[in-house]
Amino acid sequence: MNYRHIYHAGNFADVLKHAVLARLVTYLKQKDKAFRVLDTHAGIGLYDLSSEEARKTGEWRDGIGRLLDAELPAPIAAILEPYLTAVRDLNPDGGLTHYPGSPKLVRMLFRPQDRLSAMELHPDDYETLHRQFDGDFQSRITHLDGWLALGAHLPPKEKRGLILVDPPFEIEGEYERLVDGLAKGYRRFAGGIYCLWYPLKKGAPINDFHAALKALEIPKMLCVELSVRSDRDTTGLAGSGLVIVNPPFTLKGELDILLPFLKAQLTQDRFASARCFWLRGEAAFNPGP
Ligand code: SAM
Repeated sequence: MNYRHIYHAGNFADVLKHAVLARLVTYLKQKDKAFRVLDTHAGIGLYDLSSEEARKTGEWRDGIGRLLDAELPAPIAAILEPYLTAVRDLNPDGGLTHYPGSPKLVRMLFRPQDRLSAMELHPDDYETLHRQFDGDFQSRITHLDGWLALGAHLPPKEKRGLILVDPPFEIEGEYERLVDGLAKGYRRFAGGIYCLWYPLKKGAPINDFHAALKALEIPKMLCVELSVRSDRDTTGLAGSGLVIVNPPFTLKGELDILLPFLKAQLTQDRFASARCFWLRGEAAFNPGP
């Protein structure tokens, strides 16, 4: 396990993922009933952007660094409000040295009745995450393979939930594992909202990945992708995507507003692109969370 998220925290891919994650949690809070967030690949929860590791890549500068002090048109400010408020709350003296990973972000948005189950497999990162949430009775941090959690931890006893699957893609076959993981989770908990993260880079089997997802015949699957640069001259990340199963009925409209803004704000060359489309179905009728 070589991947450490501290090198990438707050980058353009985190911005898209965490902005969407915050929208999903905000939607779940529209009903009083408690919900659970299952974060299968959680990372360390809180990132020090002034650390040696974060400074080494400086990726956050072209991510959250381009957003926090930007002039936001009112509709964009409203959509990003839960995400950016959490980031600002972690940096009360202004500036930007602390950045919330997914478990910290959702926890900051919780009400007293909501719960977090977070898995992290890297021993050091697990220890760090566990310390971060020590004594927090709303959160359970487990040193476990997150793929197993999609079986063992679903359905949540609250019967309402959001499942984030955000693997590091450091080994072959992660796109296939993502499809299999979703199939496994969905069989146990068809009513959950699932949010799957994947990288866009040269040679990535995106068409096959989308085709395999469609073949699962899950009725409602929304896809959002943002590339900030061409993949021609880099083997690194050119962009990232999210597949959202059972998205809130408001999400597509919000993303249609947000994406052009994020593309303009985060672009690194003239090949930046963004799209949001239904992989399967359209939530013409949505009974609510
Ligand atoms: N979700 C985090 C966020 O948004 O802040 C970032 C997670 S990072 C992309 C992926 C994490 O998964 C790493 O911390 C890595 O150590 C961990 N990991 C790798 N394989 C895992 C597995 N099989 N189960 C659980 N965690 C794993």
